[in-house]
Amino acid sequence: MAGKYKQTSIEIDSGSGFCFGVSRAVKLAEEQLAKGGRLISIGDIVHNEEEVERLHQKGLISSDLDKLTGPPGTPVLFRAHGEPPASYQKVKQEGRSLIDASCPVVLKLQLRINKAWKEALAANGQIVIYGKKGHPEVTGLCGYTNNRAIVVQHPEDVAQIDRDKPTALFAQTTMSYKGYEEMEALIREHLSKPDLLKVNKTICGQVANRMPNLKVFAAKHELIIFVGGNKSSNAKVLFEVCKSENPRSFFVSSLEEIDEKWLEPAVASIGICGATSTPLWLMEQVAESMRGILDKKETTI
Ligand code: SF4
Repeated sequence: MAGKYKQTSIEIDSGSGFCFGVSRAVKLAEEQLAKGGRLISIGDIVHNEEEVERLHQKGLISSDLDKLTGPPGTPVLFRAHGEPPASYQKVKQEGRSLIDASCPVVLKLQLRINKAWKEALAANGQIVIYGKKGHPEVTGLCGYTNNRAIVVQHPEDVAQIDRDKPTALFAQTTMSYKGYEEMEALIREHLSKPDLLKVNKTICGQVANRMPNLKVFAAKHELIIFVGGNKSSNAKVLFEVCKSENPRSFFVSSLEEIDEKWLEPAVASIGICGATSTPLWLMEQVAESMRGILDKKETTI
């Protein structure tokens, strides 16, 4: 039937893509690279291979702080996740200039944790962080407690918490509200007195609110193409959310992975969405590519 592909609508989810902190970090990196010369990012600036590659082409180098690669004297960039105090010292020792692209929300959280840590020292208390062990943001946060914070990720980790000490609980910014509530309940139960626990609301809505919004988006369209990096854990989780709402959801990390067969049978609408690390330009390219496939199919009916 002529027109069945032509009429297909394509929508890019306005809530997908970089959060404010990551957009800002990429912008700061691009501004520096536009001046000429190279720039060293400590770790990949974002968990998306395509975006990292685009910035590498412009002169960005990803490196460990302990084994700095790149020409001597090249400035260093801290990404949105933030860094512990030791990293700032290290950059100073190396005599490098620093572009601190730590997200302002994370910087505020570091200050809050540091203040709580000083109070805990005076009151024989403890700091607990709900987050992913080894995640760069968590490593950074722990640095503001002299690496003495207790990181809890799974229920069994609660056993490490001293039952009788005043406890200040914080969360990594990208954890889910539900997970935090469950962890809070477990810790309260574990402590000898529930009022020993002080909970700080530190989850960032930029990521936590995406899940419910994405569910609505995935259910609204007949076909979903989720664009995300293969290394991004956030992408995997959000893709599963799409898939549970809409079984006709497909994951792509690059344009080459798009399969024309996904359009059989024809659909009335296609939704394109992505993770917090997915650049908008990549979702736009996927939309363009889908439009091209639809046009081609239309002419061959
Ligand atoms: S999720 Fe929130 S706190 Fe974390 S980098 Fe993005 S904007 Fe900043």
